[in-house]
Amino acid sequence: MFICASRKLLLVLLCALGGWAGGAAAAGAIGVSTPYGVVSLPFELHKIPDVPVYYVVGLSGVPGADNEGHTSNAGFVVTDEGVVVFDALGTPALGYRLLQRIREVTDKPIERIVVSHYHADHVYGLQAFKDYAGNPPVWAQRLAAGYAGGSRATQGEDAERRLQQRREALFPWVDEKTRIVAPDETFDEQASFTVGGVGFELKHLGPAHAPGDSIMLVKNYGVLFSGDVIYKGRVPFLDSPETDVGRWLQGLDYLLRLAPQPDYIIPGHGSASRDMSKAIAFTHGYLEFVRAAMRTAVQSFVPFDEAYASTDWSAYRQLPAFEASNRGNAYRIYLEMEAESF
Ligand SMILES: [Zn+2]
Repeated sequence: MFICASRKLLLVLLCALGGWAGGAAAAGAIGVSTPYGVVSLPFELHKIPDVPVYYVVGLSGVPGADNEGHTSNAGFVVTDEGVVVFDALGTPALGYRLLQRIREVTDKPIERIVVSHYHADHVYGLQAFKDYAGNPPVWAQRLAAGYAGGSRATQGEDAERRLQQRREALFPWVDEKTRIVAPDETFDEQASFTVGGVGFELKHLGPAHAPGDSIMLVKNYGVLFSGDVIYKGRVPFLDSPETDVGRWLQGLDYLLRLAPQPDYIIPGHGSASRDMSKAIAFTHGYLEFVRAAMRTAVQSFVPFDEAYASTDWSAYRQLPAFEASNRGNAYRIYLEMEAESF
């Protein structure tokens, strides 16, 4: 057993007490030490019934000390020849916890990690896989390659500025030793591969939420990992110069037309679902709402502040990340609508 073989005193103690297996809540309450700091959150592993596909669900809200940076989802597929991981969570410590969860299920090698897009909440955990999982290759869409060392001019998120912000907001889980792991392999529009008889398909749907937004379809099992093209249960993050809401909406339409439709959809944020139209309804509705409100304002020459104040946000005001993201989102779309109107 990987866990019980660990030299970490706390883990040995938990194993000896029999308090580890299946005891996410108990372990979370105590705190689990990792080489990157203690994770004190419950870190429950979910499994899709009857198939070897697993995932964790992040907490709602923006990354901060209260959620230890655990705000996004990640998952993995176990095959006879190895494990394919999708996304790596928002801190090295959380990446390490994901690796621990994988090792509770299988000792098969990590064959590769596919990253939905390069934003901090999905990639900072890659470091743990590079350090402790045999340096598996990281796959991402070509536009993600400029993120490490990139700037606002080349990426939707200024990587260096974001890292500084997270070193403060997520200390000690993100610190001076946290590094951005660049992709090892990139693809353009799509890529297919097979591991242990299981077929995988990657497809670029960006620039939408971020330039490299991509999805992964696990063909044998009818499971879709959508990344942040689908958000549930919180206000999406649109406030980046490379967010393209028009193309994002097209991406959602593409998902609706997938044939056959996936049996399970695991979004980038929020709970899994079994029905595509329900899965995308929130994201679609929010994007359309903000766009319609800001388009009307731009067409009527209403200044942004006035337009924002007079929009009825009551359908979204209670949601996590509303305060942190909604105004920036609206402003971003206002600018997009203004640019379109010229
Ligand atoms: Zn995200």
